[in-house]
Amino acid sequence: MDLSERVRQLSPSATLAITAKAGSMRAQGLDVISFGAGEPDFDTPGHIKEAGIRAIDSGFTKYTPVGGIDELKDAIIEKLRRDNGLRYERSQILVSCGGKHAFYNLAQALFDAGDEVIIPAPFWVSYPPIVELAGATPVIIETTEDEGFKISPERLKETITPRTKALILNSPCNPTGAAYQREELEALAGVVLEKGIYVISDEIYEKIVFDGFRFISISSLDREMRDRTMIVHGLSKTYSMTGWRIGFTAGPAELIKAMASIQSQSTSNPTSIAQKAAVVALDGPQDSVTEMVQAFQERRDLIMGQLAGIEGVSCFKPQGAFYVFPNFSAWFGRTYQGNRLTNSMELADYFLTSAHVAVVPGVSFGAEGYERISFATSAENIQRGLDRIREALSRLH
Ligand code: PLP
Repeated sequence: MDLSERVRQLSPSATLAITAKAGSMRAQGLDVISFGAGEPDFDTPGHIKEAGIRAIDSGFTKYTPVGGIDELKDAIIEKLRRDNGLRYERSQILVSCGGKHAFYNLAQALFDAGDEVIIPAPFWVSYPPIVELAGATPVIIETTEDEGFKISPERLKETITPRTKALILNSPCNPTGAAYQREELEALAGVVLEKGIYVISDEIYEKIVFDGFRFISISSLDREMRDRTMIVHGLSKTYSMTGWRIGFTAGPAELIKAMASIQSQSTSNPTSIAQKAAVVALDGPQDSVTEMVQAFQERRDLIMGQLAGIEGVSCFKPQGAFYVFPNFSAWFGRTYQGNRLTNSMELADYFLTSAHVAVVPGVSFGAEGYERISFATSAENIQRGLDRIREALSRLH
């Protein structure tokens, strides 16, 4: 078929092959342990589900304003005030069908062909393709474990060119769990303001932080930074609402209006029922979030302990999100039944085929040498899965 040039340029997800293979192995009845999940393994809290049911029962099942109902915009404004000390007006908020959709609309509204968008690696898999779909060019800054997987102001400065439009910042980060402290953000903000670029701050893992880490939005540093920052956020992770598809953007009114135009010609409003549930999620009790984060922290500690016992594997300790990103590169070059394992994709395939454990290869996140392991799964699965990984490595020659 004569498909569009746009879609032909789109690189297929490297993770799809692993996910599909894991699925078909499971269908054959094999006991596959999956560390691939990008969503909490907890149910959406009951009071949020009830709000959705109430919305259906009361007939709140029709179109809403494209950018979301005022009630939800107000709940988002209140959240940003309460948690981040930020003041926004309704005209500066757009509700979309998930954080991914928010970022997609933003890219469509902000980027032109020839624009460069700086993306620190390891990065969330969707940033480069969404930037490319808007015709712009992703410019990757690689970071390492030793740098805590964070970019420095110097690296940022030397990467900015006259074509640079924006920096994407994701703290806490998927896949590394690295999170920026206030002083680090201040240093980056200095470069951002000096060079006059924008920041897209993806704060979707804001609430999933460990050891008392204090999350700071770069937007909250000062007035100038607020005007240069677009916050991309969503309820998927915090409230275990991945299927409800509610995300939002907070930023300059002019941009929000442009994004709303794009949304009006594509999806229209996010689901009415989910919007009502989102109001209750943001305004209601937050105990379920605290409990979930506590469970994630315990699992992070468990998985870090298990990884420490595996020879030749180092792992950065995540400050947030629900993934670890261990470095397996010391094992590259080893062989299994005559096949040499040379990269993260081949190692992931080996773990799946020979140990029935699914992990996501680092290459998908722009970081060869690593594997992403999600701990959004039970302690028992973590224990069994890591045992299998250790055993599979011991079988390499
Ligand atoms: N940003 C990051 C860093 C993510 O990891 C994800 C989901 O995996 C999203 C945004 C988008 O999530 P959603 O579209 O469910 O809001």
